[in-house]
Amino acid sequence: MNLLEIKDLTIRFDTEAGSVHAVNGVSLSIEQGETLGLVGETGAGKTTTALGILRLIPDPGKIVGGSILYKGEDILAKSEKEVLDIRGNEISMIFQDPMTALNPVMTVGAQVLEVIEQHERCTPEEARRKTVSILGKVGIREERVDDYPHQFSGGMKQRVVIAIALACNPKLLLADEPTTALDVTIQAQVMHMINELKKEFSTSMLLITHDLGIVAASCDKVAIMYAGAIVECGTLEDIFDHGAHPYTLGLFGSLPRLDVKVDRLTPIDGLMPDPMDLPQGCAFHPRCPRATDVCRAENPGAAELSPGHQVRCHLASTHPGP
Ligand code: SF4
Repeated sequence: MNLLEIKDLTIRFDTEAGSVHAVNGVSLSIEQGETLGLVGETGAGKTTTALGILRLIPDPGKIVGGSILYKGEDILAKSEKEVLDIRGNEISMIFQDPMTALNPVMTVGAQVLEVIEQHERCTPEEARRKTVSILGKVGIREERVDDYPHQFSGGMKQRVVIAIALACNPKLLLADEPTTALDVTIQAQVMHMINELKKEFSTSMLLITHDLGIVAASCDKVAIMYAGAIVECGTLEDIFDHGAHPYTLGLFGSLPRLDVKVDRLTPIDGLMPDPMDLPQGCAFHPRCPRATDVCRAENPGAAELSPGHQVRCHLASTHPGP
């Protein structure tokens, strides 16, 4: 059974200047222990989708449609108190920038301890023991537990953020570009650590990233997002070896293969459309080398190329593939 199943999620920001269509009918699913990579350019709606799962959309954003089934129950139908229980106890989020995620006036140990005390019934001694243990798992020694965030390097701060996210053994981790703010040398270490901890705790993960090396090394499934919609999703092999959507092919530099190292997304000519003024038809048509009149008039539905491999493109079945 799917641990998380999002169906047709739609999120809008109604501003004085007009409506921002941030997430437009997103559907995706994650099974127990699975990692789904959510890939796309800045502004595609990836972070807003993750925040929607936790019902943390900032004002004036609103979830205006769809459902988010967690363990078969719709998070959108739950009370604020029930959602509060799910955050931290069941689903945690690791944010991109450790500098803003940590409280500068609390010791790192106190920040982990606070989460444990909020979500578990235990004595102060047990909470302290658990704090030392979880910080130890991310490589922070006991003598550093009472240090403040400014006494740590960027990589060590992100380890603390990961410890806080894992403090209550969540079933699902939402990791939003967890290594982007770190030095390249530290990125691989931190990602390796997340993957090891994920295995140890059998946690499922939604991993938002631009880094195709990380996707290849960490993900079971991949969803490609463009202008608030999932344009292609499937297994790692489906996307890397049989990617069919022109946007996927463009992102991967035209010939994605698992056995050829691709480090970063290749920029595609043109810009992502203004979410306040999405083009009619397929939102990718102004940048698509294969656009036709049908593409300019009608938004394509999802076509299944093979079990679980879905593509939203009018020409999906006629793409030559890599
Ligand atoms: Fe390109 Fe048309 Fe497919 Fe959109 S539907 S990706 S414009 S070929």
